[in-house]
Formats: sequence, C-alpha cells, structure tokens
Amino acid sequence: MKRLTNKRCNGIKEGYWSQAKKEELVQRLAAYEDTGLEPAEIQQYRAIGTVEECRAAVEKQNPKKPDYESDGDADGYHVYDTWICPNCGTRYEVDYDDYKYCPECGQAIDRCEEE
Ligand SMILES: [Zn+2]
Repeated sequence: MKRLTNKRCNGIKEGYWSQAKKEELVQRLAAYEDTGLEPAEIQQYRAIGTVEECRAAVEKQNPKKPDYESDGDADGYHVYDTWICPNCGTRYEVDYDDYKYCPECGQAIDRCEEE
C-alpha cells in the first residue's frame, strides 16, 4: 500500500502531513469508508489471518478420506498397512495410528469406510 500521509517527526508538532492534493486524499478516504470498517476492525481482521488462511482452516474441518497403501498381498488379499493424510501427505500405520485428525496438519480424517 502506497501511503499518502507521513508521520511528523520533527518533535514540534504531532500527527500527519501530506503532499497529496485534497482530491487524492478525499478519494483515498472514500475508498476506506466504502469498506464499512473502522481502522480497529481492519487490525482485528489482520490478526485473524488472510481469507485464504481462514478458508484453509475451515477446509481442514471437512473430513477427507485418506489414501491407503498396501505393502503386499497376504493370501490373495491386499494388506493396507499405511494410510496417508490427504492434506499434508504424512504417512501413518493402519490400526496403530488411529487419529480423527492428522497430528501433523490438523486435517479431519474420514475413516468410516475402513473395516
Ligand atoms: Zn496431515
């Protein structure tokens, strides 16, 4: 963001000054007012994180089915002994690492088809 104002730093006066023309300042102020947000609210949104980060966090709460990997066959049946987090790719051991959420990234895991 290109600032139109500068903080006074001469120690005599406080506040801000600007070289910009009044019309430019009015347009910039209008753009901020059109957001409908107070400056404190904008700071709060910044603290929460970006829209993309929030979307990713919500996305992780939707359970996803893991990928399974078999180590080989036993009596003609596939033996799935590894499940892989669909979000971060961390590998876990079936029947041993039984998590509802990936400990590495927090992705919700849908394991209901596994029997
Ligand atoms: Zn993960």
